[in-house]
This record gives sequence, C-alpha cells and structure tokens, in this order.
Amino acid sequence: MSPRTPFTQADLTGLRSDIAGEALVRGDPGYDEARTVFNGMIDRRPAVMARCASRADVVRALRFAREQDLEVAVRGGGHSVSGSALCEDGLVIDLRRMHDVAVDREAGAARVGGGATMSDLDRATQPYALATTGGRASTTGVGGFTLGGGSGWLERKFGLACDNLLAADVVTADGGEVRAAADENPDLFWALHGGGGNFGVVTSLTLRLHELPAMSMVLLLFLPENAPEVVRTYRDLMESAPDEAGGGCLCLTGPPEEFVPEALVGKLLCGVLITFAGTEAQVRDVAAPLLALDHESEVVAEIPYADLQCMLDDPSGLRNYWSAEYLDSFPDEAVSAFCTTAAAMPVPSGSQHVLFPMGGAVARGPADYPLPWRSSPWAVHPFGIWESEADDERGKQWVREVRAAVRPWASGAVYLNFIGREGQERVVAGVGEDNYERLAVVKARYDPGNVFHLNHNIKPAVALV
Ligand code: FAD
Repeated sequence: MSPRTPFTQADLTGLRSDIAGEALVRGDPGYDEARTVFNGMIDRRPAVMARCASRADVVRALRFAREQDLEVAVRGGGHSVSGSALCEDGLVIDLRRMHDVAVDREAGAARVGGGATMSDLDRATQPYALATTGGRASTTGVGGFTLGGGSGWLERKFGLACDNLLAADVVTADGGEVRAAADENPDLFWALHGGGGNFGVVTSLTLRLHELPAMSMVLLLFLPENAPEVVRTYRDLMESAPDEAGGGCLCLTGPPEEFVPEALVGKLLCGVLITFAGTEAQVRDVAAPLLALDHESEVVAEIPYADLQCMLDDPSGLRNYWSAEYLDSFPDEAVSAFCTTAAAMPVPSGSQHVLFPMGGAVARGPADYPLPWRSSPWAVHPFGIWESEADDERGKQWVREVRAAVRPWASGAVYLNFIGREGQERVVAGVGEDNYERLAVVKARYDPGNVFHLNHNIKPAVALV
C-alpha cells in the first residue's frame, strides 16, 4: 500500500468486509482500470475506489470517508470532461456495479441504477418500443447526465432527461437515505433538475418512458467550402421542423467509416444528422432541402433507437477539452462565425464543432427548474478531442476561439454538462443567479459540509454569509 494511504490495513479490512462490492487500493488488480475515465487527460490516484454494489455499500463507503477524513468523488459513467468522477488521494464512490434497469411497462417508467449507462437504459427499454431522452453516447452515465439536465436526440419531442425524472433515491452526505419526488422532499427534487451531483449520491432514478414505435435518420456529408450554405439551410429547416426532428450540424475530420468516401477520410468535412421520432419517409421529407444540396455521402435509414444511440460513440482515453455557448439567435453573421472557426479546427483530430438545435419540448419545459439555457434556440458546442499531449494548447485555444467568435449572440447561460471547469461565474451562469441562491439553501440542508464538491459546485448557503 502507498505510504500516502492515510488509513490502516485494519480500517480497510473493515470496509471490505462490510460491503458487497470491492474496495480497491493502489496495487490491487483492477485499480488502474477503475480509476480510468473517458478523458485521457485525467490521471488521478484515489486512495480507495469503493466499487459499491448496493445502496448500503454507498452508505458504508461514505462513513469510511467521514471517519478517515477523505475527500469524496462520485463516479457514474466517468464522462465528466473535468474528471470530477475522480479525486487524488480520496475515496471514490464508483457506482458502475449499480446499473440495473427495471422497466415498468404499465407505469411507463424505468427505475435505473445510479451507475447505469445510456446503453443499459436504451437496451432495456428498446424491446417495449419505449424510450426517453438520453445522451448521444452509449457509455455516458444516466446519473451525471440526467442530474445536470440531459440533452439528447429526443429532447425536442420528450423534453430534457431531467424533465422525465419522476423520483430519485439519494444517500446524503451524513449517510441519510432520502427519496425525492414531486411530493417528497420537493426542494431536493427540484435541485436534482440541473443541480448535478451536489446534493448526494443518487442510487436510483425513476424516469418516464415514452412510446417510440420508429426512429429514423438522415446523415449527410458535405465539402467544407459548402458549409455556410449547408448551415444556413439546416438552420432554416430546423426552425420550422416538427418536434420529432432532432440531430445536429457539425464540422469534423472525415472518419475511416464505410459512409465516408476514401478521398475524404482525414479531411475537414461538414455533416448534418437529422434524427426523427418516426418513419424514414417522414425524415426524408423533413431533410428535403438538405438532400437537394450537393453532398458527398448520404445515409437515410430507419434505425432502432438503441443503435442510433451508439452510432457516434467516440473512443475513450483520448484528450478532451470542451466548452459551449447557448445562443439567443443564429443569424447569417453567426453562421459565418461558426464556419470560420470550423475552418480553424485542428484537422485531422477527433474534434467536433457542433451546432445543436434546441426548441420544441425543451423550450416549453418547466421554466422553474435551474436550467436557464433551455430557452435558447441554438447551442454551439466545440468538442476538442485529440491524441497527443503536444496538441493540448492548440486544441484548447481552438475551443476558446469558438466561444469568443459566437459570444455576440450568446445568452450567457450555459449547460454545465457541456463544459469543464471554467470558474464559479460559469457555474452561476449554468443555473441562473436566483436559482443559485435557492440551490445553495438546498445544499445547506442536504450537504452543509460540501462533501460533494468535486462537481460544478454549489456552495452551501451558510458558507455565503
Ligand atoms: P461522471 O464523470 O461519472 O460523473 C460526473 C459527475 O456527475 C460526478 O462527479 C458526480 O458529481 C455526478 N454524478 C454522476 N452520477 C451520479 C449519481 N448517480 N449520483 C450523484 N452524482 C452523480 N451530455 C448531454 O447532455 N448530452 C449528450 O449528448 C452528451 N454526450 C456526451 C458524449 C460524450 C462522449 C461525453 C464524454 C459526454 C457527453 N455528455 C453529454 C456530457 C455528460 O452528460 C456529462 O459529462 C455527465 O456529467 C456525465 O455523467 P457520467 O455519470 O458519465 O459522468
């Protein structure tokens, strides 16, 4: 065991014998795998990885952290770009073993373990032709995704993931077990709609499911010189598209995939994905103005939703740096700014320069939740991904340039799940100033000591006076 480990072997043995899961320390088989997250830039060595298998394990692991005065991190899918799932020398509550999904067809709901991935959820609901809004990568954790808001292909039809949150089971900082729902601890329930992992460990989430008999898509690739026309056409089309239509417009390096012509692999491309909660004929109809433009590649298909959800999975372990701006409008000048910064994107790399349409059920959703960005019609999300540390500065600089270029149209509100650590001002901008104060009061009630601080942190209200 490392000399920095603060507890005794007897303490560790006690923890190990009390939990159904495992407690891994440095040198244990599986420790290095357990401390690996999506972003390859993150390399932290927790003192203990508590791989919890039950709610009782979470309570016990938290008690251990309290007794040993260890910093606490909570790990779901490990997708947080800042690596908030891990701490150095502290204790990580790793929820991945708690990934069961139980579908209640009659109730139209699923009870999802706090460590389940999108794929666990989508594969469980697919056989019933039911679905709910999920993240656009199958390995993202349902927990971190939903608690931060939850934006995905189906959001314009079914709302954000957190709009579909019906209840949550939470273990609080002092080991208390509480349930949050509209009629049970409503302050906590409200805070879980955008306040992230600040209030406790969510061991299960109950999510509303919707009927989804068919899902279709159109994927088109264009040469980069046509990007301004493509983006304008896409904007106009989405501004009047039905709620069933989702997707995004992006600039990317042509990947070595079947649908990419060989000569375009490794080159800068402009792509459009239109997803549609309906049939192939319907998506073809919606995408008609884009299909009419000169394009290099075209995929039009009906596809099971759970398969669509894995279609754009990025490999884990690459270096990631992202940010986002939410726009009040997207006029032609903003299109130019978007396209100019696309041309400056490091290529080849895994980076993506994404434009997401909002609107529909997102904009109509409950205004009360701490999600001030939900009323923005457009989001720009520079998603910097590259392989080598030598490219870190160039990649980060590009992401910052994108933010600066679209700032004239930015509302200032930002979805916190799309950004890394950008300072406390951005956290306040992510939830809204008034909401921040309300969240701080809830935080003071459920986590007065700020045990859960490795996140977009809401400081407990008592600390403000
Ligand atoms: P983790 O890194 O494990 O957790 C992040 C934080 O969430 C933790 O530190 C903790 O504070 C909290 N947390 C997680 N689970 C729990 C829990 N059960 N109880 C309490 N707190 C918890 N977001 C979108 O909205 N839409 C997308 O389409 C989307 N696509 C993505 C694609 C990729 C490839 C990646 C890497 C991320 C994507 N995200 C997307 C962002 C993602 O939603 C956030 O990073 C989210 O925090 C990930 O949750 P996680 O559980 O995987 O992450």
